[in-house]
Amino acid sequence: MIFPQIGNEKTAYTVKNFIKEKRIPHAILIVGDNGAQKQGLADFLAQAIVCGKSDAPCNVCDNCRTAKTKNHPDITSIGPEDNKKSIAVDQVRELRKEAFIKPHKAEKRVFIIDKADTMNAASQNALLKVLEEPPESVMFVLVAENKAAFLDTIISRCVVLNVTAVDENKQNTKAFLAAEEFLKYLMDNDQYNMLITTNAFSKKRVDSDNFIKALKTVVSDRIKADPKSHFAKPLLAFYNEIFEYEQQLLTNINLNLFYSNLVCSAIQIIWRNK
Ligand SMILES: [Zn+2]
Repeated sequence: MIFPQIGNEKTAYTVKNFIKEKRIPHAILIVGDNGAQKQGLADFLAQAIVCGKSDAPCNVCDNCRTAKTKNHPDITSIGPEDNKKSIAVDQVRELRKEAFIKPHKAEKRVFIIDKADTMNAASQNALLKVLEEPPESVMFVLVAENKAAFLDTIISRCVVLNVTAVDENKQNTKAFLAAEEFLKYLMDNDQYNMLITTNAFSKKRVDSDNFIKALKTVVSDRIKADPKSHFAKPLLAFYNEIFEYEQQLLTNINLNLFYSNLVCSAIQIIWRNK
């Protein structure tokens, strides 16, 4: 998982240092406009915490793989329950109880509290009890739009990370970053991470258009950068193949299927003669 850092370089830098120095704060409040970046950062942190390595998330260990499929037993997310506008105090009490249960699989447990700014004073006070004296192996990641909704006592217990939404232009930059990652994993013969990289683009057709355009540029740049490499020929074959895929985006092909086909043919073209 890659935290999309476009427009959020400062936050990304802070987070990387926390991980590298193994001093991830036990309570983090992520604040920002509505957007996937906030959730992306929360998921990234949770994965890094259960991974526990200094270059976390390593993306290959068992903890990372389980976290990516959103099935990690030590990552618990809460938010307002169905049809409710806010997180109920009972949910927070339940979470508090759970916080004292030892991790199942990783060394730490992570609780993500989504829409944390919907907690009323009673819920916040219930949370405060565990934030003040947190069990050693527990970390909290609060995600919110509005920092002003919190009691000062909550804010003072958290490290606040600001995340800004990404605008249209920067979305294209995001596609380029992903295309670069995709190519890097392709050269590593790493199908799994190639697919993971495309995940963020498989929801919307317009995102996929951007990704495929970026991929063409990135692949052609790679060929031009090293035309004598023994990869140049297969890369050129793959480059031509991308045009076929671009055509497919004009049809109503299922995007998940689209990406798994793309990954398979890329791997085949680059690696079948090795
Ligand atoms: Zn890992």
